[in-house]
Amino acid sequence: MKIFLETYGCQMNVSDSSKINYLFAEQGYQPTTVSQEADLIVINTCSVREKPELKIFSALGRYIPLKSNRPELVIAVGGCVAQQWGDKLIKRCPGLDIVFGTHQLDSLPELVTKIRQSRKSVRKSVAVTDFQERPGGLEVMPLPAPGTINAMVTIMQGCDNFCSYCIVPYVRGREYSRPHAKIIEEVRRLARAGIKEVMLLGQNVNSYGLKETGEIGFAELLAKVHEVEGIERIRFTTSHPKDMSDAVISAFATLPKLSPYLHLPLQAGSDAVLQKMGRGYSVADYLAKVDKLRSAVPDIALTTDIIVGFPGESASDFQKTLAMLDRVRYDQIYSFKYSIRPGTRAAEFVDIVPDGEKRDRLARCQARQDEISQEILDAQVGRVSEVLVTGSSKRGAGEWSGRTPENRIVNFLAPAGTQAGDFFQVKIVTALKHSLKGEVIS
Ligand code: SF4
Repeated sequence: MKIFLETYGCQMNVSDSSKINYLFAEQGYQPTTVSQEADLIVINTCSVREKPELKIFSALGRYIPLKSNRPELVIAVGGCVAQQWGDKLIKRCPGLDIVFGTHQLDSLPELVTKIRQSRKSVRKSVAVTDFQERPGGLEVMPLPAPGTINAMVTIMQGCDNFCSYCIVPYVRGREYSRPHAKIIEEVRRLARAGIKEVMLLGQNVNSYGLKETGEIGFAELLAKVHEVEGIERIRFTTSHPKDMSDAVISAFATLPKLSPYLHLPLQAGSDAVLQKMGRGYSVADYLAKVDKLRSAVPDIALTTDIIVGFPGESASDFQKTLAMLDRVRYDQIYSFKYSIRPGTRAAEFVDIVPDGEKRDRLARCQARQDEISQEILDAQVGRVSEVLVTGSSKRGAGEWSGRTPENRIVNFLAPAGTQAGDFFQVKIVTALKHSLKGEVIS
């Protein structure tokens, strides 16, 4: 049996997909990248923006007709679109067999079996509409494939922030933090399997533990993960600026394994827009956190998310976003045009920015950021950095690829016998467009 798995959206979905692969590997399924030879197609969906949501319908339009040649093919849709649409998705897409919620990963194999058995008598689709919170879904802990050196560890799910543009709290549910003992047990197990770098995952990791009675906070969790032998680097995402505590900021200075890299979503550089987005911080609050971070770790690399063209965003609001790029000097930004998400508060806002204007602002934002990103890469030339080898470089020719502690990509020639997971001191000799080239020093 073969499983074809297509994943859209954030790291949380990527992590859920690896759990799905693990669950089906246990049932004897082999992964395939060829949809035509699959016995099971799973699409793990994202509804954060309009574009990925539309892609899911076109993907179903491609995969459902495969059933005419492979009648035993089972097609399942999970993730945020599934959570939002429920059984309406099955009505809209005849031929789709299973819709499963974001908390129901662990019941997917059972649902697939049910479909296969029921087909003997009745060919009937099963819609899973019982989208209850199922923290048990987090307890599926895949072991990494041999040779893998980094892994994601989900520490919490859901979000209680209800930013006005965001669908996540409606589809991922209320915030739930896993018990820290389970997280540490998982990190230890990963370290024993050869993992060197863990990425702690959650929609809002800075509020880890705050809603669970007696649970430790995020800074304490970082300290506990730091103690795990074998783990050399720790990263986390996503951080909400309003919940970024002094304790977490000082963890960057006191925990050497905590990478000097942080994704800190800004979204907009204007207080008026931030307020309408319901973000819970002002530009001054955000900058105060950035300044504290930089005084704790001067070389910390920051990345961010930007939404342009939010309803009511004026030309001068947008200028303030551009000004933030110059003030903070992010390594990279993930920038998008605002798109309406039905069911969110912002969907009711009427002061829409015309699409042409949004496109223009996005292009200007990305052009300015490209210059800043390049300046930051150029400034690395001549520096020596500790690089964790992640694998052989795409260019081949004996070149290896790795990451600096700030998560910048470096390609370099390494001695024979090099393997993923090795560390080298590398001198940066050239800055390319999105990566660096280096020479091994030791
Ligand atoms: S913090 Fe805001 S943007 Fe992030 S997941 Fe929660 S509601 Fe969405």
